[in-house]
Parts: sequence; C-alpha cells; structure tokens
Amino acid sequence: MNITGTTINGYVFNEFIDSGGFGAVYKAEKDGKTYAIKIFREEYILKEFRQRGDKNRIQREISILKAVNHPYLIKYIDDFTLISQSIPSIFLVMEFAEGRTLRKILDTQGPFEEQQALNIFSKILDGTQYLHNIRGDDEGKGIIHRDLHTKNIIIDVAGDIKIIDYGISKIIDYSSITKTGYILGFPPYMSPEQITDSKNLDKRSDLYTLGVVLYEMLTGKFPYEFSNFPELVDKIKNQPPTPPRIHRSSISNRLENIILKLLEKEPYQRFTKIEMLANSIKQDEIRLTEKEYDISPKFYSILWNEKGILEEYLKSNKSPLNVILPAHHQFQQKWMFQLDRMGIFHKMVDPSTIRLAYGTYTNTKGLTKLPYAPTNFQVITPEYLHDYKKQKQYVGAVLSEQLNLGADVLLSPFHYTHNTTILPLSQRNPVAEWFDLDMKLLKESIDYRNEKAPDKEIYAGICLNGESLNDPLNKRIVLNHFSTFECDGYLFFVDGIERNTSQITLFNYLDTLIQLQENTSKPVIAVRVNIGLGLGILCTGVSAFSMGTSRFESFTENLYKEPSEPYNLYERYYFPSLLTTIAVERKNPTKLAAINDVIGACQCNYCKGKSVIEVIKNPNSKLHFLHMVNKDVQIIKTLTDVKSRLNYFIERISIAKKMYEKLTGVFTSQDAIYLNNWEKVFNELLRRT
Ligand SMILES: [Zn+2]
Repeated sequence: MNITGTTINGYVFNEFIDSGGFGAVYKAEKDGKTYAIKIFREEYILKEFRQRGDKNRIQREISILKAVNHPYLIKYIDDFTLISQSIPSIFLVMEFAEGRTLRKILDTQGPFEEQQALNIFSKILDGTQYLHNIRGDDEGKGIIHRDLHTKNIIIDVAGDIKIIDYGISKIIDYSSITKTGYILGFPPYMSPEQITDSKNLDKRSDLYTLGVVLYEMLTGKFPYEFSNFPELVDKIKNQPPTPPRIHRSSISNRLENIILKLLEKEPYQRFTKIEMLANSIKQDEIRLTEKEYDISPKFYSILWNEKGILEEYLKSNKSPLNVILPAHHQFQQKWMFQLDRMGIFHKMVDPSTIRLAYGTYTNTKGLTKLPYAPTNFQVITPEYLHDYKKQKQYVGAVLSEQLNLGADVLLSPFHYTHNTTILPLSQRNPVAEWFDLDMKLLKESIDYRNEKAPDKEIYAGICLNGESLNDPLNKRIVLNHFSTFECDGYLFFVDGIERNTSQITLFNYLDTLIQLQENTSKPVIAVRVNIGLGLGILCTGVSAFSMGTSRFESFTENLYKEPSEPYNLYERYYFPSLLTTIAVERKNPTKLAAINDVIGACQCNYCKGKSVIEVIKNPNSKLHFLHMVNKDVQIIKTLTDVKSRLNYFIERISIAKKMYEKLTGVFTSQDAIYLNNWEKVFNELLRRT
C-alpha cells in the first residue's frame, strides 16, 4: 500500500523513505514535528509475542523500546495498530534523524581514515553499550540490537550519529517473511550464531557485527569475499576472515587485533562486554576485564583433618596458604578458625552442595547440619529448586554460610548428577537441567554478592563430566555460557580426570580450562586433581589446582554415592621425580624403601635423617607433601611464559619416565603409562602455543 499523502492518527505521511527488511518507512509530520514511521504487518511478529490477552508481549517489548533515551539512539515515540483490508499492521513512530546512513557515506566517499573511523565508532559503541545495559524483559539481559549494519546508522553533518531499528528484530518471525523473498538480517553482518541459532543470541552477537562495521569503515570491504549467499554463510561459519591490513596496510596492528577478536567464530572468544572493547580501543592494549586478576600459579590445599600438620608447617612457612574448606568439615574443624584468625589462610569454602544431591548425604557427618541441607530426607534436585524464590533463598543460605565461615572468596552453589553426557538447552535431560539450574544459581549468587558483600570476589562453581568435553558442541556450550557471567573466577570440578585418563579426554579437559581462563582473563582453579597433573595444569597457564594434603584426590561421582570415606591402611607419599604420589603401607613401608634405594631418599626438612617408618608417618609425609608441592609451584612461578613452562613440564615427564625404567623391580610398565599419555598431550599443547 502506498499511503503518501494520507493522514493517519494525526500523522501526515508526506514521503516514502525506504522499504528495507520487513517493513516500509515513511517520513511524516504531526503538530509541526517530523517523524519516521515504520510500518509492518502484525503477522510478521512471532506468534509467542502476539498472543492475545495477558500474553501479548508486543506492547511490553515496544514500551521497553520507548523508554530508551540516549543521544545516539533513535527515540521510539509512539505506536498504534491499524487494520486495513482486514490486515492488521503495526505503526512504530520514531524521531526523524537528519543525515545519511553510514552505508551511503561509505558508498559515496569510500573508507574512513583511522582516527575518523574511531571517532564515529566510539559513538556507535556508546549507543550500543547503553542498549546492552538496559534492564530489559529477559532478566536484565539488555537489548540486543541484532541488526546493527551500516544502513542502520545515520550520521549527520556534525558527525553525530543515530542508531536505528534496535530491538525490533527480536519480535519478528523471519521465517514468515522469508516466504515473501526477504532474507533475514543483512547477511554480511550476521554472526555465525545468528545464522545457526538466531533465537539464542547474546550481546556478543552484536560485538561480531560491530567488528564487521569497523572493518568496513576502515577498508570499504567485508571480511569475506563472496559471490553468493551459501558461500558467504559457509565463510562466516567456517573460514577465518581476511585480515583488514591485507586491504589497507596502514591499519595499526592493535586495531587489526581488536577487529579479528570481534570476528571470532565463538562468542567466548570475543570481548564479553562493549565496555571491554571500548577500553581496548582507548588504551593501548586489549583488556578483557575491568580489574586485573592474579593468575599466577597457585596450589589450594583441601582441608580435612590437618590441624597438627598446618601448625607444624606454619612454624617455618610464613606466607599465606590457599585453602579450600569443605563446608561440612567445619564441625570437626573448629581449630581451623583459630588458625584462621591469624590471617594465614586465603580461604574458599566449598559449599558441599554436590553431596546434597545424593541420597547418601544423610549418612555423612556434617552435611545434615548445613543450614541449607534439605530437611525430611529430601535431596537437592532441579525439582526441589524449581521455584525462583526457593533458588534465591538457597543461594542466600549457601553464601551467607560462606561469609560466616570467613571465606575470602565466595563460591556459587553447584551440583552434579549424571551418568550421561551433557546436552544442555537442546533437549531436556537431567544433566541439562542441572547445567541450566547451576547457571541460574550463579546469576543469583552474583546478585547476592553485589548486594550483600560487594567487596568479596565470587567464583562460579562448575561441575561436569570429563568425557562430555570430547564433544565439541558441549565444550563450546560450556565456554560460551560460563564466559558471560560477571564472576571473578572459576572453580572447575571434572568427573573422571585421573592419572590414567585417556589422551583425548585429558586434552579436551585441559583445553577447556585454558580457553576459559585465556578468553576471560579470570583465574581458573582445577579442583581435585593429583599432584603431577596439577603441576602440568599450572604449566599450561591455568591459575591453580587443588588437592588434599597428599590424599588420593581424583574426583569421581562414585565418591559421593558412597556413604562414607573408605578407610585405608595406606599413606600417599609424593615423589616429585615420579610426578605422582604412591600408596605406601603405613606399617610396612617397604615400597618407599625400595624406591628410595634407586632414586635416593628425600632430603627435605621433614624427611632428612628419618627412617622410612618415620617418614611415612603423619604428620611427616604430609608436611613433606606441602613443602614439595609449594616448592614445585615456586619453580613454575619463576617461568614467566607458557612455552617455557610447558617445556619444563615435558622435561619433568621425561625425567620421570627414566626413573620408572630404573624402578622395574617396584613397578610394572603399566604403572608408567600415564606419563606417555601426558607426554603426548603436553607436547600437543606446546606445539600450538
Ligand atoms: Zn621430603
């Protein structure tokens, strides 16, 4: 329909401007003011938005858009529906922006000079940042523009900008329009995830599009050359973009790096927020976080029954110890709070929430006493935490308990029950439900921290099955989701990572830890891994690992399904040169003697001059462990780059292999197989650094 010349609702339609995308735009006047009015058929709106009655969300969405007020964003002023020839259409009235579209400017005068491009681009960022931070309809998700191409940016003669068309594509059902021949979005600006899963976008999709916009402003070209749509889609999804300096060599290296980061295929590889992008452009380096986190190598000791050991250890070691206290151990460890007052711990409290998800928890000491343990023989399940009020209450109880226990860093509650691999968000299964629930609880935890303990850092607790990370889709889901949260670090529990884990599982596990830390610049702690592998993890650049003082430590789900810890007659003794602890019989430590005969006895303060019976006795074997592990960590700390750390660890592996060759009287060749696996995996990590 052409309505030029008509008057509707007092608006005089005096000029047709454009029929881009899913509607037409007219210039109109009312009471002496000029407006732009976008008209589109109601049937183009997604069904879920146009359901009648309470469920009609069109008005809610539009009223959110109408509340937007920013100098660089076009203002939505009014809206109404008109039925013409029994077809209802939506009229969206906007302020009229004078100027030309960025598209038109590029078409007529070619690319911008770097500084000029950045001046305009920083305004585009200002406007988009405002949109992203609006408390919108989806639990504070903000407004994602979704269609931020150069046609939707208008620049006036003074160089000021107006971004138009934001937020609308969210409510449009493109499949209904595609039938009419219209292709959704403008393809060269679409992020890879917009092509594959346009309903589950987050703000980082806009960041991709901004990368294309900046690329084009500087080079006058798109990041991909293409002659048809399928070719373009394939390139967006699978091919690296052409570096912008190929088109224009004067672009600074720093700016090229920023653009390439924006054009990464996976959201977690881009910036997490516009703020970080804007800062990186202003400053001279790429910054991923507002504050700088300490990601230097650390060991966290999981506390169990270590009073005497710690008192003794602290006599000669004054520097603070990183510890993780399982919340349900607190009742047997009142002593810890006395030591704690001396300020010698940097402490996290593991809320022990994983255990509360198993029926066996009522048999484990301490768990039932936790203030957030369910009563009446209930266990924590997604059903139990179904209601958001219950979630809020649960998170409040878990975190206030950590504050009571003097935690230096808070930890969101996390859970794990599995027996299958994760398939979050696609089809429902118990693991997916836990995954989604834990993310909800994390979000709730961050809100709690912001409100009740703004000075404390909060880490996300994550618990997953190791083998599930072998599926690239699962790995991406984990990284893309957890990297969005405004937490300060991650505590990563993975089921099934032990000494003999297969190469592929070990590689994907390590790669997930590395990617998470690298792409967020926030510390990642690998929890409950054995000493040798733990040191290897530090050498990959991952910030920390934790284990108990020399106890057997791999995390397996079965541990929590069994009612109590099995008693054993063995003590674990750490052999740095074998990169592992070995079980030695307490009363008859012949194995220790046999190994020492070949590799030489330890000369640390806690072993020197003692008989093997004395050495293996508590607290000596544990003091030896604490001393040696901290010594190892100190050595890794002195190696500043990942390459030299990985080389160091690979060297340690080859030393250990040689030791095993000398120890054929004590070990079989099977016993040393883990070293071959590690060697291959760590060499692969080195190769790609
Ligand atoms: Zn020793």
